[in-house]
Amino acid sequence: MPYFDDDGNELDPNLIPVPGLCLICKKNNDPGEEILCTLTRLDQKEGEEFICHAFEEEENTNGF
Ligand code: SF4
Repeated sequence: MPYFDDDGNELDPNLIPVPGLCLICKKNNDPGEEILCTLTRLDQKEGEEFICHAFEEEENTNGF
């Protein structure tokens, strides 16, 4: 699915920076969440602090 910025320029979702919060979120690699996550990142790509109300922390899988 193509994404566009406010000026109508097409954006490559692979070039949108992935915030650190996403790296510990269990939705990060969920294909069903990909569009919503990309739109959330796009909305905030110029912001200093990334805020996502859909964040769900990845469960700890190392047994601790
Ligand atoms: S739900 Fe939010 S925090 Fe989680 S991966 Fe998507 S954009 Fe990142």
